[in-house]
This record gives sequence, structure tokens and C-alpha cells, in this order.
Amino acid sequence: MRIASWSWGGREHAGIVSPDGREATPLLVDYAGGAAMRLIEALVRGEPLPSANGPRIAVDAITLRAPIPRPRRNIFCVGRNYHAHAQELSGSVFRDNLPKEHQWPMVFTKFPETVVGPHDAVRLPGRAVSEQIDYESELAVIIGRGGRDIPAARAMDHVCGYTIVNDVSARDVQVRHNQWMLGKNCDTFCPMGPWIVTADELDARDTRLRGWVTPAGGERELRQDARTRDMIFDIPTLIETCSRGITLLPGDIIATGTPAGVGMGFSPPKWLRVGDVVRIEIDGIGAIENRFE
Ligand code: MG
Repeated sequence: MRIASWSWGGREHAGIVSPDGREATPLLVDYAGGAAMRLIEALVRGEPLPSANGPRIAVDAITLRAPIPRPRRNIFCVGRNYHAHAQELSGSVFRDNLPKEHQWPMVFTKFPETVVGPHDAVRLPGRAVSEQIDYESELAVIIGRGGRDIPAARAMDHVCGYTIVNDVSARDVQVRHNQWMLGKNCDTFCPMGPWIVTADELDARDTRLRGWVTPAGGERELRQDARTRDMIFDIPTLIETCSRGITLLPGDIIATGTPAGVGMGFSPPKWLRVGDVVRIEIDGIGAIENRFE
């Protein structure tokens, strides 16, 4: 099942997108306080979803929003979680503040307010703030049933589904402040979507993830191409880690880290500029595509 949120006809909708990604059926319309979250909570409780609340409509005719347009709290994000990306970081400005061994996942967060839709514009914060804006193609895990101290062996029972995020990053700001929070949290820095594919339809522990950049006026370039099985810390380990002493809640989001091929990894680096378009595709989910303005 594909759970989506969208705007159409001046109203907000949450509902189901058909398996071919072409048609959307609204279930909740103008429901204040996060309609998609209500659908996730119904799935967690094993309750039937509400019945259709309007006619099916072509996905081309609606404006998809992030499947959870405003998460109820910060998004958990994992740093340097693919071997080849860890390798490219070791040759970057981050070489001095990386742990020497991958004993524990590196975790930081993004604010709920950074989230934008799968086709929304990302606003460059301006050169006075950053001249080194970068993309990170990532699989995101949506937590279903909550829990604390979840063992890896049972972690997949807590997954509701999967979506795509672009963990947009201001590299110079990350470095300048030592902590990553400021460089990861500029407005619009978390494009997400196009929908949540539920875990009964996709086991994202091994799927293909690709990221392209189309520079303004240029040709599309494949920059990132990896499989999620190449993660240093797999999904069950990440859930175990994020729930250590912390109660995970339905709708929590864990962005699982990006593979090699970010702009920072090139020599010279390839920072994003006005008019560039970043497309991220994950097999079994779909694609998001965002223009930088
Ligand atoms: Mg990241």
C-alpha cells in the first residue's frame, strides 16, 4: 500500500495511491492535525482504514506533499552509513571529526519544519549563509508500532514502511559549527516522498537507490548509485540504536544515510546552484525531484 498526502482543489488530503503510482484515492479530507499520521496509527492498531472520501483522481492532477507533511518531532538521521561514502568523507573537510572505527552509528536530527514535498523547490539559504550546499539521497524508515529498547531481531516488526528523503546539507556550516545541526536544518532542507510504501510490499534492506543532478542548463548526471544492503549499520541495527532509552513513536522517521557520490566527494566539489534539479529514485518506492532556487 502507498500512503500519500496531497493538496487538490484548495483542500488537504491523505489517502492511498494505486500500485502503478497513477491514481490517488482520498480517505481523509481537511482533517486537522496530520491525516497521514491517523492512517499510520490505524495500521498500527490493525484497524481498517477509513473508506474512500471522494473520487479517485490522477496523481498528475494533484500536488503531492511529503507523506507526513509535518512530522510530530525531529527526524532521526544517520551519518556516514555506507562504506564507500565513509571513504569519500575521509578525504573531505570532515576527515578530522570522523570516528576512527564504525563501532556505533552517528545520529543527528532535522527539524520537522525542514520537510517539503517530493516536487517542491528547495531554497538555497543565500551565500552569506552557505556556499556549499549538497544533496544526500537516502532511504527513510517510517516507524509503525512504537517501543523502547527494541532489539534488532524484532526491529522489523516496528517498521510501518519506507519513503525517500534528500538530506540537504550546508557543508561549510556543518564544519564551521562543529555540530551538524545548523548545517542540516535550513528551511526546506528535507524534501520527502513521494509516498510511504508499506513494509508488507517492500523489504528495503536490499533495494537500489540512485541520485541524479541536472545542473542548470546542463545534462542529467548520475551521481549516486548503491544498494541499501551496503549500509554499514543495517535497518534493524539503526532501530535498535535509536530506541536505546528513547521511546520511538508511530510516525517517527529514520533517514538511513547516504551512499557515495555526494557533491562534496568530487574534486573539485560540485556544490548545488540556483536552477539545479536533484532527482532521487529508490526501487520499489518511486522518485522525488526538487529544484534548487
Ligand atoms: Mg544524510
